[in-house]
Amino acid sequence: MKRPIYLDHHATTPVDPRVVEAMVPYFTETFGNAASRNHAFGWAARDAVEHARVQVAGLIGAHPKDIIFTSGATEADNLAIAGIAEAFRSRGDHIVTCVTEHRAVLDTCRHLEERGLSVSYLPVAADGRINPDDVRLAVTDRTILISVMAANNEIGAIQPVEAIGAIARERGVAFHTDAVQAVGKIPFNVDAINADLVSLSAHKMYGPKGVGALYVRRKSSAASIAGQIQGGGHERGLRAGTLNVPGIVGFGAAAGFCQAEMAAEGARTRELRDRLLEALRRDLEDVVVNGSLEHRLPHNLNVSFTGLEGEALLMAVDDIAVSSGSACTSASKEPSYVLKALGLADDLARASIRFGLGRSTTAEEIDYVSAKITSIVRRLREMSPLAQHVDEEPVASLRRLN
Ligand SMILES: *Cc1c(COP(=O)(O)O)cnc(C)c1O
Repeated sequence: MKRPIYLDHHATTPVDPRVVEAMVPYFTETFGNAASRNHAFGWAARDAVEHARVQVAGLIGAHPKDIIFTSGATEADNLAIAGIAEAFRSRGDHIVTCVTEHRAVLDTCRHLEERGLSVSYLPVAADGRINPDDVRLAVTDRTILISVMAANNEIGAIQPVEAIGAIARERGVAFHTDAVQAVGKIPFNVDAINADLVSLSAHKMYGPKGVGALYVRRKSSAASIAGQIQGGGHERGLRAGTLNVPGIVGFGAAAGFCQAEMAAEGARTRELRDRLLEALRRDLEDVVVNGSLEHRLPHNLNVSFTGLEGEALLMAVDDIAVSSGSACTSASKEPSYVLKALGLADDLARASIRFGLGRSTTAEEIDYVSAKITSIVRRLREMSPLAQHVDEEPVASLRRLN
């Protein structure tokens, strides 16, 4: 068993070696510009891009012409939201979204607020899910977009996107969903949820970094968007710039493997995830699961431990690559805004770990991880001032243990 053990697959995934293999010829042999219309180099590159477009579209039940390749999901989220705001400027100025969205959505909305749009940030219940009735109530005659993610990157909560899509259709409002964490992991179909705009990222599904896509339903009158990058009319005029051919080929290949293997891989990681949770619950008291267990990505577990300090927990988890709701994982001093949105107190939000399982995860690793976490939590609880009153500086006592 190799260490550190990688359990941070929501942050990124390794590129599947089969995907690398598919990409390699497009750096050196088939290196043409997909926009070169006059020679075979360009035609070969274009054919490869169009094949990838079919593969990516196939994974989400879309028409290939509705796929716009971007540099990733951050760009796709920006393009969707700013693109709607610009195209519908004369029709309305209100956006409905949710407090637990990814920064790419929230920061784009904040930016538009500074330019005079209004945004409703809807709350979530304690299980991390938004209530569709809240969406229905938030929509006004000025609403031009509803943006709610398919599954959350921290707690794995799957949002009721089908109900939200139905509301959007009923009200004639565009529906965008950031589906980065869901696509390739659980079944996802643009028609089933009536999505007009969907953000995707290759590196969250065993493809390369720096490539993604925005699905844009051409037939939707609610969802025509204005391009945000000008310069050559690529991608239906919605995203100019020379296409990243090797990246797009890799994205397509990754989508193909996800489609073929998703069901088996989902069942496998779900079993390992459940094994991890069962072990933690068996060996420790007061393990708090953050987010719905029922409506949850199969490879996600997010738990908080009472009676200890988040910083100490993260420091002690030295040979397992995980994320935490603790301040020291990010530039900000605040604990995770997603966990806070569930109603967690700061202490509990900080003392959390996100486990993101993936294709490389084994039962042996899970058993090592549960044993290690158990012993760390027990040790920290014994000496934590949060659990008992010890006249000792917690960081100093931690150092002695290491
Ligand atoms: C990773 C992630 C993004 C950003 O994707 P990039 O391709 O890295 O820009 C957006 N939304 C969610 C939910 C993510 O997990």
